[in-house]
Amino acid sequence: MKKIGITTTVPVEVLIAAGYKPVDLNNVFITSENYLKYIDIAEKDGFPKSLCAWIKGIYGACLENDIKEIVGVMEGDCSNTKALIEVLQLRGIKVYPFSFPHSHRLKDVESEIRRFMSIFDVKEETVEDVRRSLNNIRQLAKEIDELTYIDNKANGFENHLYQVSLSDLNGSIDVFEADLKKAIDDIKKREAINKKLRLGYIGVPPMTGDIYEFVEKYDAHIVYNEVQREFAFPRGIEAANIFEQYYDYTYPYNTAFRILELKKQIEHRKLDAIIHYTQAFCYRAVEDIVLKKQLDIPILNIEGDKLNTLDARTKLRLEAFLDMLRDLKETK
Ligand code: SF4
Repeated sequence: MKKIGITTTVPVEVLIAAGYKPVDLNNVFITSENYLKYIDIAEKDGFPKSLCAWIKGIYGACLENDIKEIVGVMEGDCSNTKALIEVLQLRGIKVYPFSFPHSHRLKDVESEIRRFMSIFDVKEETVEDVRRSLNNIRQLAKEIDELTYIDNKANGFENHLYQVSLSDLNGSIDVFEADLKKAIDDIKKREAINKKLRLGYIGVPPMTGDIYEFVEKYDAHIVYNEVQREFAFPRGIEAANIFEQYYDYTYPYNTAFRILELKKQIEHRKLDAIIHYTQAFCYRAVEDIVLKKQLDIPILNIEGDKLNTLDARTKLRLEAFLDMLRDLKETK
């Protein structure tokens, strides 16, 4: 199968139907032991210091992993991605455009996905067949999510990892399906995690994967990973077709739509507080103002940059926030 790079979640059903193996360059970058080398490659090629680390990491990962074709998201992702795609084109990478329409009208989403299907010359029925087979995997990821917030057995990192991996199915549908089944069996055998605080993690997936383990030391369990869950499309299982599935996806559309789902999950998962992660030099940090105004729950905004572990200042802020929440809960 030919590899095709993706810089964010796109309708992978279309790519798989066309015989491609999608490779999420974010995952390649962040899971590399040598992830900083990808950033260095980008900076040597002229990417500024004051640019989001994900963009630079994706660039380095694309060049170093022999990716010759990528899907470029022109609408619904950030302007940095658009600039990145232009540079990759200059480097001879073939780019297939895709957009999540700003209008967020179902008919516009449908026409964009139909255009995407015609680029890859695949029929709707074939795409729906792939979608049905991926729904089995989506159901397994949903089970891990439920083992996190209902049974309290899966930890926050597992919840993050298995859902975020749905963006490219970890490189192999069959292997990933077997991994998920094994993880579910193992997790089910455990005792429940008994922590005083139930937290939600919102915002782009973290550079700093140690955040999950860190909060557990302070009697807290992350039982909701917002964007990772969106990548896994738990609601997509019930969607009538691929158009509805990608319409009912909060990440690329407006904040008001995203807030509707957040409010539902805060209530449903009985969250005590939220950690809002933003990336240095990312416009999404500004959304924190809206989220704090619209969501009636304590929110701590933390920022990551190049490091893949929490820095001392962020640890201190998290510790103080969790102390305050525990006191608040005991008083109640
Ligand atoms: S973190 Fe922000 S700036 Fe970086 S790629 Fe994502 S949306 Fe763009």
